[in-house]
Amino acid sequence: MNAMPPMPTVVLATRNAHKVLEIRALLGQASSCLTLNDFSEAPDVVEDAGSFAGNATKKAVELAWWLACLPKTEGAGRSLLVLADDSGLEVDALNGAPGVFSARFSAPDGSGNAPDADNNAKLLRLLQGVPSASRTARFRCVIALTRVPDFFGGAAGKRMGDLQAVTRVFEGVCEGRIEAAARGQGGFGYDPLFVPDGFEQCFAELGGEVKNRISHRARALEKLRVAGV
Ligand code: IMP
Repeated sequence: MNAMPPMPTVVLATRNAHKVLEIRALLGQASSCLTLNDFSEAPDVVEDAGSFAGNATKKAVELAWWLACLPKTEGAGRSLLVLADDSGLEVDALNGAPGVFSARFSAPDGSGNAPDADNNAKLLRLLQGVPSASRTARFRCVIALTRVPDFFGGAAGKRMGDLQAVTRVFEGVCEGRIEAAARGQGGFGYDPLFVPDGFEQCFAELGGEVKNRISHRARALEKLRVAGV
């Protein structure tokens, strides 16, 4: 009898504990997951693409390349997939800002992530006086998935750019509006300010179970599942 091929291990290209929690819950028990915390030497990826898809692809490709180039023993014969999430908030009254700058919205020079509370305070300040009907916004999430190649004969002749062509991307959107003040204790980022369409409570009040049914991240991962990847 032929042995079953090993189930791929998914490496989440993030150190954001909240994202890890949500993605692990959404992927379910069937997938074995590692994160960047399991690879302390993994390079930091500069997120300088102008789009969520560009940044997610960059994160997935650069980590997959780095993993492929590890000495064979460290890969432990596992089949590995890298899953990268790039996501953020788009506010219509701010012409789509903070967008790809969501994590560093209030950082003084726009580089380096800023505390969530500071980002939320800046958002509320910019929206001061904007009436409720004009406070529409959405969370957008792009998931990029790259299979880690098995360089049996070493990486010579291979290029990182080749991995871009085999990277699949999946996008999810969650429409809603921005509240006048922060509420609730759950979630992360802009969750205390974002009320999804069809609800009166914000993500931070609705809790993980509801968020994981309707969020941008849930929708992107659902597309991945439907694609049978
Ligand atoms: P990234 O890690 O570069 O993708 O930045 C994501 C940033 O977008 C986070 O730091 C949050 O500010 C925001 N964000 C993305 N997804 C969510 C979410 O589900 N809830 C709240 N904020 C989010």
